[in-house]
Amino acid sequence: MKRKLMMAGMAAFIGTTWLYIPGNENRAFAYEDLDQKRQQIEEKTSKTESSLKKKKSELAKLEKKESKLKKEIEQIDQKVSTATEKVAEKEKEVKKTKQEIKKLKKDIQVINERIEKRKAIFKDRIRSMQKSGGTINYLDVLLGARSFSDFVGRVGAVTTIVEADKDMITEHENDLKLVEQKEAELNNQLSGLETSLKELEALKKDLSKKHKEKEHILGDVTDKKNHAHDELGKLENEQEILANQKAAVKSEEAHRQKEEAEKAKQAAEKNAPAPHSGGSDQVSDTPASSSGFIKPAAGRFSSGFGGRSGGNHFGLDIAAKGTVPVYAAASGTVTNSSYSSSYGNVVFITHNINGQTYQTVYAHLSTRSVSTGQRVEQGQFLGYMGNTGQSHGQHLHFEIHKGLWNGAKSNAVNPAQYIR
Ligand SMILES: [Zn+2]
Repeated sequence: MKRKLMMAGMAAFIGTTWLYIPGNENRAFAYEDLDQKRQQIEEKTSKTESSLKKKKSELAKLEKKESKLKKEIEQIDQKVSTATEKVAEKEKEVKKTKQEIKKLKKDIQVINERIEKRKAIFKDRIRSMQKSGGTINYLDVLLGARSFSDFVGRVGAVTTIVEADKDMITEHENDLKLVEQKEAELNNQLSGLETSLKELEALKKDLSKKHKEKEHILGDVTDKKNHAHDELGKLENEQEILANQKAAVKSEEAHRQKEEAEKAKQAAEKNAPAPHSGGSDQVSDTPASSSGFIKPAAGRFSSGFGGRSGGNHFGLDIAAKGTVPVYAAASGTVTNSSYSSSYGNVVFITHNINGQTYQTVYAHLSTRSVSTGQRVEQGQFLGYMGNTGQSHGQHLHFEIHKGLWNGAKSNAVNPAQYIR
């Protein structure tokens, strides 16, 4: 009983925060001080840990949100890409229909002129017959026909036709029939055009709605992480691009050697210049500048190389509205044709111009028509100008690298000095 009490007393004694040793006040305070410090440190550690945890979870949330937004942008970019292709197709269709209509109108005009000429001949005939006292009233009757069916009805009413007029009357009949057919076809084409134009309008409306949606999402991303244009180099597929470069350089060098051998062979055989190589259906007609590069797309230079608020701008922006084709600035091998959330739909081309390796980059395309590893000729169609990736408004972000592209873009040169 006594022992139990003593144990309880000991526990109470030990349980106090500091040891009281009679006759030594200073030591007692030293213990108190240490204890407080330990507590403070423990508190601080747990605070730091919890704030670290909070920070980590905040970061994870941000990253999750960012990757979700990136996915949304990619999806919208894909939709925009499809819509742009549809608009381009519709525009081609409308153009073809308009040409068809133009041709039909011309055809109809030619036939009508023929009909009028014949009528004049008939009238002359009637006049001379009347003078000589004969009658050919049926010509009067037939000439009055306003349409092919009217004509057929009138022929039925005419009992006798002079043999010499028969051929001309048949021709007249055929022409009236032809005009009616062509006019029906014309009306058909016109109503088709109307439908196409309406569809085109709807497609364009849909496209601009998607652009607006994207602008909204992109605004969110920019607010959250303040992405600048110079972050374009930070690609998810940077490793892939770098790996493909070696193969492209090799392929370009092999192509150059083959071309040189061919030229030498032709020069030896014919002592004549090599014929121009062609092949693609959609080709730029921009003449090459002395640098060997052509302007890759129609449009105004909307942002130049170098300083720009938010970081260095390693390319040249070319902006234009509508369906704008983008062409290879020089012949070469497609190093990479892919999508990244920063560059959007992007094409990299490796060139070998007079032994110097260059690389060009075509970013924010709405569509891509070439694939990695493919050889392209200068002026070959690569895809349409777009607004994919981190882009505000339709434009082409064009880069030229003297040497190979790298994430730091240390080889980037001012494209304005290479194209006009
Ligand atoms: Zn740019």
